[in-house]
Amino acid sequence: MQEISVVITMDCEPSTATSHPKATGPLDWAMGERAVTGYAAIAREYGFPCTFFVHPETITAQADMFKAMERDGHCVGLHMHPWKYAYSRYQGAKYRCHFGDLTELDATTLLTEAATLFHEAMGRHPRWFRPGTFSANDSSFRVLTALGFRGGSISAPERMYRATRSVWSGCEPDPHRANATFRQLAGDLEFGNMPLSADFEQVLTAPNGRRMPADFRPDTDWKGQFGVTYRSIAQNIVAQVKARAPAVPVLNAISHNMFEFRDAADPFTQRYREMLDELCGACARAGLKPVGTTLADIAERALKVRPPEEEFAYI
Ligand SMILES: [Zn+2]
Repeated sequence: MQEISVVITMDCEPSTATSHPKATGPLDWAMGERAVTGYAAIAREYGFPCTFFVHPETITAQADMFKAMERDGHCVGLHMHPWKYAYSRYQGAKYRCHFGDLTELDATTLLTEAATLFHEAMGRHPRWFRPGTFSANDSSFRVLTALGFRGGSISAPERMYRATRSVWSGCEPDPHRANATFRQLAGDLEFGNMPLSADFEQVLTAPNGRRMPADFRPDTDWKGQFGVTYRSIAQNIVAQVKARAPAVPVLNAISHNMFEFRDAADPFTQRYREMLDELCGACARAGLKPVGTTLADIAERALKVRPPEEEFAYI
């Protein structure tokens, strides 16, 4: 393994004016635009394109910006928190839940609606997907594949947020073909999944009781809240990927369109740069060349990976 892919992602939420005052998201579209363009400009300084997962209201309101992002080599897919969509579309009466709560039929109906809105904005069907909070159930990959999605970033390994139906204990840590019936396993669906990169050194517990490993996001003050630094996070993740030596080695970072990434003095911007510096530094110390790419590329490569042969457990 001489090279390691780097995928810098952002979930682009609807403005809180269209969803809910307590929701994650920018206060208004102008703030969302500053976040997206600032995030992409900084990633480019490091030679990395971005992958944006965009909520239906957001792609409708900011289609020109995301078309420009695509022309610049960034990747644009669909993002979905059913309950946020419910507020803007159905006054909260329908789909007032998380993605992992949806039945196969409701997920199909909801994503068909959302894909139509995406198509109206972008002039094409969405091919890539990420659910809000990585919320999913065992029918999610099947539904996405049937609707023509080629891939996504659906899982956050070892995350355990029961409240949002985001439970990924024991799942595949590296890009893989998804499984039709058991979300934690690799399978043979025509869907390439790129898990969020996670530092498996320890599973942290947030004050609200939710459990997750540290990751690359600049959103969280890892040092202040959990006493872990971007240096240790980056070093651990790179060492763990190197040790696993997967078919598609990747470092996958995440953030959201609600931070002032055009303001160099903003603490989120400073953490973002620190993360990118540490990510590149950890690769260099491990003798790996970080190569920026997008989810589209990772998903297509994951689709070529054969599922691992597994011995049947006679238990
Ligand atoms: Zn989200």
